[in-house]
Amino acid sequence: DRLQQTLIAGKCDSYPVMVVFIDLDHFKVINSSLGHSVGDRLLQTIAQRLKSCVPAGDTVARHGGDEFVLVIDHANEATISLILPRLLESISETVTLDGNEININCSVGLSLYPIDGSDADILIRHADAAMHLAKEQGRNNYQFYTQELNLKISGRLAMESNLRHALKRNEIFLHYQPKVDLKTGRIVGAEALIRWKHEGTVISPAEFIPLAEEIGLIVPIGEWVLRTACAQNKAWQQSQLGTISMSVNLSGRQFKEKNLANLISHVLQDTGLEGRFLDLELTESMVMQNVESTMATMRELKQMGVSLSIDDFGTGYSSLSYLRRFPIDVLKIDQSFVRDIGDASENATRASSIISLAHTLKLKVVAEGVETMAQLHHLQLSHCDEIPGYLFHRPVSAEDMGQMLKLSKTLPIRQEEVFDSFEKKVNPA
Ligand code: C2E
Ligand code: CA
Ligand code: CA
Repeated sequence: DRLQQTLIAGKCDSYPVMVVFIDLDHFKVINSSLGHSVGDRLLQTIAQRLKSCVPAGDTVARHGGDEFVLVIDHANEATISLILPRLLESISETVTLDGNEININCSVGLSLYPIDGSDADILIRHADAAMHLAKEQGRNNYQFYTQELNLKISGRLAMESNLRHALKRNEIFLHYQPKVDLKTGRIVGAEALIRWKHEGTVISPAEFIPLAEEIGLIVPIGEWVLRTACAQNKAWQQSQLGTISMSVNLSGRQFKEKNLANLISHVLQDTGLEGRFLDLELTESMVMQNVESTMATMRELKQMGVSLSIDDFGTGYSSLSYLRRFPIDVLKIDQSFVRDIGDASENATRASSIISLAHTLKLKVVAEGVETMAQLHHLQLSHCDEIPGYLFHRPVSAEDMGQMLKLSKTLPIRQEEVFDSFEKKVNPA
């Protein structure tokens, strides 16, 4: 009945509902060896533990014998991967009854509404079938009714647990994307880009940053990025490699932290980097939320001399008239606008008008993802200020970046030669 009620509600707001079928492993042995009174109290203890594992408002039911059924509302990937490990762990904790230490495990089957069935009976039957699969797999595990979900959730759980250890195992490091001034051809900045090397493979930030955000790990990871990037920039300055600006990407979650300005101020103090050599990249959507507190944070950051960029401009709301209210210094035009610029497309015109509009608002313009000479040419004609981009160089290690800075210092290029200098890079012959 509870499940049916949930489904009716679920249908209206289309949140997935998860049915969890739990069967205790080898429960019969307990009954026959320690007696039914111990068996009863064991079931009670397990029931209490199950209750503490599910969010308030969700349902824990005894289905019969040593079987329990949970009904979890709003079952997204995050809640699922939070609840499941907790479930297995808490059931397998030792129970002491009448001086007997009892260790019991369980097998868990899961089905999801709506993908695995549309009514309560079918969902329970499918969860039951999945539970039997879990028994076959050697018990003390869980299985989804749908195989794709098994793979997805177990992959995610593994990544989550690995990510939790990544920082202290020194698996996280930074690469730097050089940024070139189109008037001088010199490197004037670098963007710190996070990398995670796990068991020999480098995992892209696009894959783990969203997960890190979801589970809150982005806050310590983000702080590590800030400290490392600022310390690196200071180190380059101390080695007389020039005074470039270091851009660091902030995630929405970090920006919402109340003490962000405080943290930045500490990082600058600890690393000895002046605020004007740090640039923080925010996205439009971050700026659109909680306007009051965003404005306050931005002002504090500006007071430290830190510069502020709007990243991925063109993918969101894309309103310069809205953004002009905020103390922003740089507009980064998204790659998707730059991509077909060379083909004299609509995007080319759009990029040019964004650039000139941004200039009237006294914003510096950076075009992301410049890969071809045609794109570069168009952007130069449109007076774009700076480009990162693979055309100039791919992101590099701190060491390689240091080498490039050394070279860049000795390269006094006049404006009319910048294009040729790129041409030479692209076609060395
Ligand atoms: P983003 O901030 O837009 O960073 C630019 C991405 O575009 C980087 O990918 C960079 O390697 C790539 N890129 C630069 N030039 C070109 C080009 O010419 N062509 C192409 N195809 N790509 C180019 P990456 O390093 O994989 O980073 C992906 C995203 O992950 C970043 O997008 C950013 O949103 C996020 N990210 C990276 N590092 C951090 C970090 O430390 N903190 C947070 N919160 N997010 C990060
Ligand atoms: Ca960025
Ligand atoms: Ca970007």
